[in-house]
Amino acid sequence: MEVKTSLLDNMIGVGDMVLIEPLSEDTFIENLKKRFDHSEIYTYIGSVVISMNPYKSLPIYTAEKVEEYRNRNFYELSPHIYALADEAYRSLRDQDKDQCILITGESGAGKTEASKFVMSYVAAVCGKGQEVNKVKEQLLQSNPVLEAFGNAKTVRNDNSSRFGKYMDIEFDFKGDPLGGVISNYLLEKSRVVKQPRGERNFHIFYQLLSGASDDTLKKLKLDRDFSKYNYLSLDSATVNGLDDAASFRTVRNAMQIVGFMEDEVQSILELVAAVLKLGNIEFKPESRCNGFDESRIKDKNGECYIDCNLRLLLFQAYYARDALAKNLYSRLFSWLVTRINESIKAQTKTHKKVMGVLDIYGFEIFEDNSFEQFIINYCNEKLQQIFIELTLREEQEEYIREGIEWTNIEYFNNAIICDLIENNKNGILAMLDEECLRPGTVTDETFLDKLNTVCAEHQHFESRQSKNSKFLTDHSLPHNCFRIQHYAGKVLYRVEGFVDKNNDLLYRDLSQAMYKANHSLIKILFPEGNPAKVNLKRPPTAGFQFRASVGTLMKNLLTKNPNYIRCIKPNDEKAAHIFTDSLVCHQARYLGLMENVRVRRAGYAFRQPYEPCLERYKMLCKQTWPHWKGPARKGVEVLLKNLQVPAEEFAYGRSKIFIRNPRTLFFLEEKRRQ
Ligand code: ATP
Ligand code: MG
Repeated sequence: MEVKTSLLDNMIGVGDMVLIEPLSEDTFIENLKKRFDHSEIYTYIGSVVISMNPYKSLPIYTAEKVEEYRNRNFYELSPHIYALADEAYRSLRDQDKDQCILITGESGAGKTEASKFVMSYVAAVCGKGQEVNKVKEQLLQSNPVLEAFGNAKTVRNDNSSRFGKYMDIEFDFKGDPLGGVISNYLLEKSRVVKQPRGERNFHIFYQLLSGASDDTLKKLKLDRDFSKYNYLSLDSATVNGLDDAASFRTVRNAMQIVGFMEDEVQSILELVAAVLKLGNIEFKPESRCNGFDESRIKDKNGECYIDCNLRLLLFQAYYARDALAKNLYSRLFSWLVTRINESIKAQTKTHKKVMGVLDIYGFEIFEDNSFEQFIINYCNEKLQQIFIELTLREEQEEYIREGIEWTNIEYFNNAIICDLIENNKNGILAMLDEECLRPGTVTDETFLDKLNTVCAEHQHFESRQSKNSKFLTDHSLPHNCFRIQHYAGKVLYRVEGFVDKNNDLLYRDLSQAMYKANHSLIKILFPEGNPAKVNLKRPPTAGFQFRASVGTLMKNLLTKNPNYIRCIKPNDEKAAHIFTDSLVCHQARYLGLMENVRVRRAGYAFRQPYEPCLERYKMLCKQTWPHWKGPARKGVEVLLKNLQVPAEEFAYGRSKIFIRNPRTLFFLEEKRRQ
C-alpha cells in the first residue's frame, strides 16, 4: 500500500483532511474548494468520504474506474466513493462483517446519486452468472420505479427524494448477491394535493401524461394536457433537463425487469389516474330542509363518483377529497415497496451477509416549516447522533484494539435535541400524541399552548444544557410557531396542521367506499374498510409510527459496521463551478466535519499497517533496504530510529503504526523524493 501522492499533492489540495497543516476552518474550506475547482469532488476524513456535488457529469464512474478501485486498499488511490464501496464490500465478504452505508447531507447535496454509485459499484464487482445478474438488475431497477413515485422537483433539487429509503442488499457466503429488502419512511403525501410555488407533484403524474401512448391515455380517460388537472401545479410543469416522456419509458421498462405483471402495471396507472381525477371533483352546497347544508358532487355522472353517505359542509367535502387522494397515493407507494420486495427478496433462508444503504431526506429549513419538516429533521438528528456515537466509539475501539492509550475528546452531542423530540414522557411527539388523543376540543393552538407551558416550565428549573434549552422561546416568535435549535441550525415550525397530520384519519365511510370499489388493488390498499373487520381501535398516529420505525432503523444500523458519505452542496443555484464559501462552511459546521477531523487527529492523525509503511519507506534506511528480514513492526522501529524522528511522534499499535502529526508524514515523503 502506498500513501497516494495525491493525498499530499498541494496543487489539488490534500486528499485526507487529517493532513491539513495548520488545521482551521479556513484551511479546511480552502482545501475543499481547491479540490472542487479541479473536479476532485471526494475528500477523506480518515475513512469518512466527503462528497461535493459537482452538478456536472464527471468521467469518474466508468467501467475502467471500477477496475481501478477493485481490490485496492483504501488509501492507495485518489479519494473516491468507489474506494469506500470496495472497502465495505470486501470487509463484508472476507471478514463477514455486516455493513451499512450512511449517506447524509441536505437536499440537493447528492445523497441519492451517491447511493446509486455505491450500488452500481457493488453490483459490478460482486459475483457473475445469469442468476446473479438477474438479481443485480432487479435491485438496480428498483431505483427508477421508486424515484418516479417518490421524487419530485422542489426548489432545492429537481429530483428530490420525498421519502426516506433504507435498502438491505443481501449476499451469500461467497459475496454473491441474493436479493434485497427495502424499507420506506414517511412519504411527503401533502404534495399530492398541493405543491409549494416553483415545485411539482411527484414525477409519475407528468411522466404518465407525457409518455403514455394515446391509446393508454384514452383507456385511462386522461388528457395529455397538464393544465386540465387541479393537482398539477403549472408554474413549473416542465423541468429543464428532465424528459418526462423518456422517463416514463424507463420506468415502464424498470417495472418489467423488477417483475411487475402487465395487469399490475395497468392497475397502478389506473390509481395514478384516479388521484388526478379526484382532484378535479368539485362540490356544490345544497341546503336541506332540516336547515343543514350538505355537499353534493357537482357532476354525478363524472367518472370519479364515489358512493358514500357523508353529510359534509363544503369545506369538509374538499378536505375529505384531498385526504382520500393523499391516502390513495401514499398507500399505493407503500404497496409498491412491498411488491418490489416480493420480487427482490432472497430466495434462500441460509445465513446472509448484509450491506445496508441509507438514503434519507436531508435536513430541511424552509421559510415555512410544518409537520413534515419536523419529522424529517428529527430523523436527521437521529442520524447525526449515531454518527457521533459511532465515530467516537470506533476511534476509541481502534485505540483499545491496538493497545494505545485513549484520551477523551470534547464533542458536541445532540442527544438532548433527540430527547426533546422523542422523550416518552414530555417529548414533543409524545405531547402531540397526548393532545391528539385527548377528549374535548383539540386544535393546533391547544397543542402549542401545551408545548409552551411544559417546555418553558422545565426551562425555568433546568440548566442551559438541558434539552429544553433547545426549545427556543423569545418575543420575536410569531404567535402560531415554535422554534427548535437543531444541530444544523434554528428552525421555526408553524403548528398549523400538526394535529391533523399526526392524526392522519380518513373518514370511515371513505375507507369503506374504497373497499367496496370494483378494483382489486384499491381494495387491498384499504383493508380497514372491510365491514367485516370493523376495528374501533384508533390507528397509531403518524408521529408514533415514524418514531417507532426510526427507532428500529437505528437499532439495525448500530449492529453494522458503518461507512459514511457526507454530501455537501456547493451552491444554491444547482450550477457547476460555483463554490459558495459561506454555504459550504455552514454545512461543514453542522455536519461536525471539523470536529470529526479533530477527533481523528486528537491522538494520532495518521495510521498505517506496518507492512505497507515499511514497504514505502524502507529505502530511507540502510538496514531496511532492500529487504528487511524479520517482523515488519521491528523494521519500522529501526527505520524511524534511524531517521531520528522523536519518539513522542509515534505509537506502536498491535498492527499499525500511529503517527501523531501530519508533518512527520510530510517529512518522510520529502525524504523519499530527495
Ligand atoms: P434530496 O434530499 O432532495 O433527495 P439528494 O441529496 O438526494 O437530495 P441528489 O438527488 O442525489 O440529491 O442530487 C441532486 C442533483 O445533483 C442530481 O440530480 C444531479 O443532477 C446532481 N448530482 C449529484 N451528485 C452528482 C455527481 N456525483 N455527479 C454529477 N451530478 C451529481
Ligand atoms: Mg435524494
